[in-house]
Amino acid sequence: MKVLFVAGDPKPERWTVPISQLLPEADVRVWDPNGPAINADYAIVWQPPAQLFEREPGLKAVFNLGAGIDGLLKVPNLPSDLTVVRLEDAGMSAQMAEHVLHQILEVSRQMELYRHQQRQSQWKIHRPINRKEWPIGIMGLGHIGKRVATTLTSLDYAVNGWARSEHSIEGVHTFAGNEQFGEFLATTRVLVNTLPLTSETENILNYGVFSQLQPDAVLINVGRGEHLVEDDLLRALNEKKLQRASLDVFRKEPLPAGHPFWERTDITITPHISARTLRDATLEQITGKIRDHAKGLPITGIVDITRGY
Ligand code: NAP
Repeated sequence: MKVLFVAGDPKPERWTVPISQLLPEADVRVWDPNGPAINADYAIVWQPPAQLFEREPGLKAVFNLGAGIDGLLKVPNLPSDLTVVRLEDAGMSAQMAEHVLHQILEVSRQMELYRHQQRQSQWKIHRPINRKEWPIGIMGLGHIGKRVATTLTSLDYAVNGWARSEHSIEGVHTFAGNEQFGEFLATTRVLVNTLPLTSETENILNYGVFSQLQPDAVLINVGRGEHLVEDDLLRALNEKKLQRASLDVFRKEPLPAGHPFWERTDITITPHISARTLRDATLEQITGKIRDHAKGLPITGIVDITRGY
């Protein structure tokens, strides 16, 4: 079997050496933009060039090195019948749960205020957190959203969850579809976005949505930059509809110098680090699926291209 590695890593051997160890039966090659076709059976990709699909029409499946496949679905010439497989958790949901909890605690436990007091050598105790005042709403209840939700319920937060279809998660008040979106927002103060980017979810974080949240609301966006209407966020913060936003993803990454978000003290910026792709867990999952697929066994994580996730 031939496996092609197609990602812009300057040191592709960091990936291909472990792939060969995990899949010794495979002939593993690195994509050469100027090279000939190799008649690959499988490709492991991150933002591949359009030529991949012209040059390698015999691909049996393509494995994405991430959970979000919005970048891959934008590639021109992506065959509509191609089997695209996304990464399923692979250590990302635990990282995301940590990141979201951290961002919530920064606000709910007034960590900035305590850091300020430390700089003034000031010992002053403020009232403890009342969890009832911090209902959290998770948009998306997939691999990532569900783990974030259950982590927060384990700490006794009131957690709402919203997805396309109905879900039943112990301790989480779930809402489904556009019909129940308003009700979900009205019971939420901390809005956490873990949605995939699709034509239905693009621009979903907008002024109309922020206006329906509970007072002193907080936004945490770990989905994609294109979910957020940036001017609407600034307006909602200026009008105090939102007290704070924590953003890990942006329309343009890296966030350009001079972007108005950089100067805001009410926006926390992290450079797309909330859940990193962990190489060992990722390659173990992908090579296991390649082996199963080659044997004709069913695999999970196949993307519905028309749905967009
Ligand atoms: P997933 O398992 O496919 O879950 C997606 C969830 O979103 C599902 O619950 C789905 O509803 C819901 N959803 C999709 N479209 C919707 C819509 N129109 N309305 C309401 N709900 C909708 O995906 P995942 O593994 O949790 O990953 C989610 C996203 O997180 C990725 O696509 C990526 O963009 C982002 N991500 C970010 C980072 C980072 O470092 N910032 C890292 C990893 C992933 P159903 O359950 O009803 O299908």
